[in-house]
Amino acid sequence: MHSITLIPGDGIGPEITKAVTDIFAAAQVPVQWEEQNAGQTTFDQSGELIPQTLLDSLEKNRVALKGPITTPVGKGFRSINITLRQKYDLYQNIRPAKTTAGIQSRYEGIDLVLFRENTEGLYSGLELFDERLGVSDSIARITVEGSRKICRAAFAYAAKHGRKKVTLAHKANILKIAGTLMINACKEAANEFPHIIFEDKIIDNMCMQLVNKPEQFDVVVTTNLFGDILSDLCAGLVGGLGVVSGANVGDNMAIFEAVHGSAPDIAGQGKANPTALLRSALMMLHHIGEHEHADRIEKALELTLNDKEKCTGDLGGKATTTEFAQAIIDNLGK
Ligand code: NAD
Repeated sequence: MHSITLIPGDGIGPEITKAVTDIFAAAQVPVQWEEQNAGQTTFDQSGELIPQTLLDSLEKNRVALKGPITTPVGKGFRSINITLRQKYDLYQNIRPAKTTAGIQSRYEGIDLVLFRENTEGLYSGLELFDERLGVSDSIARITVEGSRKICRAAFAYAAKHGRKKVTLAHKANILKIAGTLMINACKEAANEFPHIIFEDKIIDNMCMQLVNKPEQFDVVVTTNLFGDILSDLCAGLVGGLGVVSGANVGDNMAIFEAVHGSAPDIAGQGKANPTALLRSALMMLHHIGEHEHADRIEKALELTLNDKEKCTGDLGGKATTTEFAQAIIDNLGK
């Protein structure tokens, strides 16, 4: 039995988390959940944004499944997501984007994995405002060590998963110093993995190429902000935010979560698609070595995705979150 920390999160978080835990229970996955929460709701109840009990659970289990957490825009507390990623040095944000039969998209043949640096860049939290001058400075801190770690991780992943090419997306024509750190880090990693092709593209061209000919990409590595934006772009290429998974991985801990946010516009209405969080949970099962359970649930998910009626509205169906989860359960073992 694996003990896993479960963070339901805000907005649609509790609905999609329930769908995933119901599917895992029906599939008899050997997982024991330790439920802990964080964010505004937790603060209102306990006076703590990130309770110590959550940190204790994470440090004990080293693996977590997390729903999205709301971050106030322009004011209020610092993102809980970023705080956890930085506290535990979860420097790899791994976000696969693949076209799937049954999920409508404008494209075919996309199968790429985005490696977003997850602790540095413009998300370092170094923001200043000089009221007297009316000037704000947002510091994008990039370190040699951080660049080496994320670039090496992308190449190591490519080698382990039989992938052929790593593309670095950067802006070294303008951000000459920071961009060059990433280019050099990738070149070092490429020397270590000579059978993997390495190429680099300037971020604006990368966006155009992704929209124009996305099937050319295999593993993509980039800095934090570019990765945040590219991952939503890639989600749009393969069926939307409701279907793409993600993982925050460090050397000693991994937190699995969907790419999407708490979707306040549809929260509590039974409209949320649980596929993204379920796929993140399947990445988690592979991470803890439960490959057979992951494959069995993935097959049931794919069968369900091919039956439009049983899917949620974002996929063209009419089912609620619970009905969709039940359809996946009904397809287990088929
Ligand atoms: P969002 O991803 O929550 O929603 C964008 C759009 O996609 C909305 O129209 C929403 O309804 C739709 N959508 C998202 N997930 C869906 C799903 N599973 N099924 C169906 N439709 C879905 O982005 P946002 O509105 O910009 O952000 C809302 C909040 O989420 C913000 O507070 C933001 O900070 C937070 N957020 C958290 C995380 C995280 O916890 N990792 C990630 C991104 C955003």
